[in-house]
Amino acid sequence: SKFKEGLEKTRKGFVEKVTDLITRRKKIDEEFYEELEEILIGADVGVTTVMNLIDDLREEVRKRRIEEAADLQPILSEKLIGLLRGDEENDIRLNQGGLTVILFVGVNGVGKTTTIGKLAHRYKQQGKKVLMAAGDTFRAGAIEQLEVWGERVGVDVIKHQAGSDPAAVMFDAVQAAKQRSADILLCDTAGRLQNKTNLMEELNKIFRVIQREVPDAPHEVLMVLDATTGQNALSQAKLFGEKSGVTGLVLTKLDGTAKGGIVIAIRQELNLPVKFVGLGEKMDDLQQFDSEQFVHALFA
Ligand code: GDP
Repeated sequence: SKFKEGLEKTRKGFVEKVTDLITRRKKIDEEFYEELEEILIGADVGVTTVMNLIDDLREEVRKRRIEEAADLQPILSEKLIGLLRGDEENDIRLNQGGLTVILFVGVNGVGKTTTIGKLAHRYKQQGKKVLMAAGDTFRAGAIEQLEVWGERVGVDVIKHQAGSDPAAVMFDAVQAAKQRSADILLCDTAGRLQNKTNLMEELNKIFRVIQREVPDAPHEVLMVLDATTGQNALSQAKLFGEKSGVTGLVLTKLDGTAKGGIVIAIRQELNLPVKFVGLGEKMDDLQQFDSEQFVHALFA
């Protein structure tokens, strides 16, 4: 499956270490726990989460009177699925029968444009009418890059000139989406973090424009994070997410890291669902996140 392919590095860098530990040590003792702890922390699962997880495992081992390391494997999988599972839906909240507006936020280079292109493709494949809005008028080349994706997946891009007011782009995009009876409008935004106050003002203005035209919009605000930056992605999310009304996360470039445990750390430390994960650069390399599929792809 896509998950299995895309998680190859994490399988090698994390799961195989666990499997190796289990076959090598055979018995569950203090050293076993210590090594397991090291592997988990090394995979970016996050120190606090790892401590709690190890405590949980110890208790389970005591309760079930487990001695063989091999018998711990399914319990570990079970616990990891539990850590990844949220009460929230991983589905995108679609405005049934009307226009759904999805806003994308995130720092430059995390894969925002790519994710928008992939999602446009995904929804188009599902028979939906999709439009994209080139709301990043700040970064050089951002508009053109979105247009390249537009051509690739056959979806129109609403744009203004570079440097223009993103809120004005959004206004036009929403108008166009309504006129053309589009189902989904995917909106790019500028990702410069160095000017946080202005960015927040800009986002607020975009929110107001969208909300005036489509009640209840934006239906989702997805923050895009780069998995290869590990714990940095997490602090970025904390910094960026608190004020921007983020409703869900997209974790990109999971194929490029051996530290896929970052998904667990993010899930534990942020009260936000991971909606999609990026597993490559091509248009099909986006998977809806599913905790069970994810863990099974790792350990299968
Ligand atoms: P933006 O600045 O946030 O819009 O980032 P881009 O969409 O331009 O992506 C930055 C780079 O990351 C590009 O070279 C993309 O091809 C690459 N990229 C994006 N998502 C993924 C992914 O899931 N896996 C891999 N391997 N590369 C990705």
